[in-house]
Amino acid sequence: MNHYFEPIHFSGSIQPHGILLVLSDPELTLVCVSANIQEQFGISEDLLNQSLSTLLDVQVVDAIRQSLHLIDSASPIKLQESILVSERSFNGLVHRTENFIILELEPTLPLGLFSVPAFVRRAIAKLRQVSSSHEFLHLLTQELRRITEFDRVMVYQFDQYEAGTVMAEAKRDDLPSYLGLHYPATDIPEQVRALYARGLLRFIPDLTAQSISLVAACDPLMQQRLDLSLAVLRGVDPCCVEYHQNMGVAAIMVIALIHNQKLWGLIACHHQTPKYVPYEVREACELLGEFVSLELAKKVNSEELDYIIKLRSLQSEFVESISQVDNLKEALVNPAPRLLDLVNATGSAIYLEDEITLVGVTPTVEQVRVLIQWADTQVKDALFHTDSLPKLYPEAVVFKDVASGLVLLQISKVRRYYILWFRPEVLQTVNWAGDPNASITISTDGSVTLSPRQSFEKWQETVRLTSLPWKACELDQALDLRSAIVGIVLNKADELARINQELERTNQELDSFSYAASHDLKEPLRGIHNYSMLLLKGYESVLDQVGKNRLQTLIRLTRRMESLIDVLLKFSRLGQAELHLVPTDLNQLVNQVLEDLRVSHQDIQPDIRIPRLLPTVVCDPILINEVFMNLLSNAFKYNDKAEQWISIGYLEQKEGGRQGARDISFNSHTPSLPHSLITFYVQDNGIGIRARHLETIFRLFKRLHEQNLYGGGTGAGLTITKKIIERHGRQIWVESTVGIGSTFYFTL
Ligand code: ADP
Repeated sequence: MNHYFEPIHFSGSIQPHGILLVLSDPELTLVCVSANIQEQFGISEDLLNQSLSTLLDVQVVDAIRQSLHLIDSASPIKLQESILVSERSFNGLVHRTENFIILELEPTLPLGLFSVPAFVRRAIAKLRQVSSSHEFLHLLTQELRRITEFDRVMVYQFDQYEAGTVMAEAKRDDLPSYLGLHYPATDIPEQVRALYARGLLRFIPDLTAQSISLVAACDPLMQQRLDLSLAVLRGVDPCCVEYHQNMGVAAIMVIALIHNQKLWGLIACHHQTPKYVPYEVREACELLGEFVSLELAKKVNSEELDYIIKLRSLQSEFVESISQVDNLKEALVNPAPRLLDLVNATGSAIYLEDEITLVGVTPTVEQVRVLIQWADTQVKDALFHTDSLPKLYPEAVVFKDVASGLVLLQISKVRRYYILWFRPEVLQTVNWAGDPNASITISTDGSVTLSPRQSFEKWQETVRLTSLPWKACELDQALDLRSAIVGIVLNKADELARINQELERTNQELDSFSYAASHDLKEPLRGIHNYSMLLLKGYESVLDQVGKNRLQTLIRLTRRMESLIDVLLKFSRLGQAELHLVPTDLNQLVNQVLEDLRVSHQDIQPDIRIPRLLPTVVCDPILINEVFMNLLSNAFKYNDKAEQWISIGYLEQKEGGRQGARDISFNSHTPSLPHSLITFYVQDNGIGIRARHLETIFRLFKRLHEQNLYGGGTGAGLTITKKIIERHGRQIWVESTVGIGSTFYFTL
């Protein structure tokens, strides 16, 4: 049988240390009594249906009768005067149920030397002085232990699954500590919980004592109508007995702690041997419990507030630091804990376009990638969060240990920019009380005894695949971070646009300056050239051979200077000229270039390889013609092999960017590229370029060889090529290995 579903407050028995009388309301006739009544009163006659006055002093009965209007069903009230039964003194505790008046008699116990309320007052005074709820609960257990002298006093707090955690404990030194341990919700059955929620104190002085049944008058159904919820002597559920005996506990006292009209937690006092606590002490403890409940509400609220304030200041510090750096991803990741602390997570992932950066304890990059695809479909108002990811997304079962809880923050859908936070499955974080499987007992007939530890299974079932829940203030933090980042990014974009404009302006100025300068330089240069020619011709007879040679060198130098100035002019014109973009068939264009080159380089006839037809692209054909002319003439020139070849082609889109380099293992200086572009290449098996020159060759007038080697040149071809490609808004780069060959890539 499952004890947990037994309606325990109708158990129809009481603890044996007292006597219970059920009286008709308002006649005060005995309708039900505990079976120990004759023994306790030392009488033998049947008392049922008799008036209460046959049992108690008439004055007591009259007093009760006159005060009936004061008796209610909130909680039992103690009669001022004690009641003598067979010369023993009892406290009379009276309360009302729906149908009856219940009078309980409990033996009075000697009180200590000092007044109990004084101790409680002192405890309250001390408790008022501590601010953190942690310290507060700790002090409470110490004070309660001092007042009650129980072996162990603990405070449990319930979580959202109603499982309890031991938050504070004061105990006898030789006992093991239960601090920090967790107990499943089912350890405290729902009915008991409901009773506690009414703010009652429960006291069981001897769990081993045999309970006493109730004897009712004529009505056998009466017991079912008898509500013993409020009875101090109410009998003990066998499951509760077994549970505590398993823990070696013989006496318990439990006080409820209420917050927001809900059971927040319990104060549990345990004793290894039977322990009778005087009514006055219990009453004082109950009052202390009320004080604690009130005080706790304040503490919990102010701690929540403190937490929010802490998160806020963390947030502003964080935002401040990321707004000051250029690389947002780096700023988010370093130092790592800040990003995690922001929402109290154990792991995080930053997804920027296609790149994923992990922080803390997380699933793998691939798992995160697939998860984002799914989670993105769940996003509402930039956010998706769950504390049971594997229940919504079964693929997460494999990484439940690190990510049963997820917050996904969508910073930009268009730019595919997300931040994710993870929390582990709560099972991993819980310190379970005792061996959960140890006390499931199967008897020889095969029946399973449901012992309290079995409830572990149930608890596990409830918390499996879930993480600790995300607090509203933590989710607010995430959203605030988003606005901050968006703000920062927009600011940066504005700044970038401003710098670009500025740059464009200075570039234009530079272009027009160099155009003007080179144009103006040409004239005096031509003058020098012409006068040198005149000198050479007109004074031929006067000049000796050395003089003639020097004049010839002067003329050669002016020619070279003119060609350099021409390059400069062309270069500056490039920056100013408009692009004329038209769809251009590159096959035709490349073939024309090759034909021209074959004519101008008749001595070199490399094997030209074009693996497949080239596409038609939108570009400025005159300029792109120049690009192919420069790249191909270099490929013609810079080759000293006997068997020369040149390959012209393009990569598949998916091979674009860095991946394109995979099959050709050259050194590379390769920017990463958007996917939609076509990457063209011109490859040769020529002399190659050293790694350190891969960038410098694109500089104006940069040549790696002497003037007259490899057919000469001005060192401007690649600079112009780069400028043309950049004018198209694209990129050019090179991969090369000395002695093996070079491949120039560019995108269109
Ligand atoms: P130029 O060819 O007029 O010297 P470029 O700007 O075209 O000027 O090239 C700059 C330098 O880069 C060249 O001098 C050469 O050293 C090197 N270079 C260019 N293309 C190649 C190539 N295909 N193989 C080896 N070196 C090259």
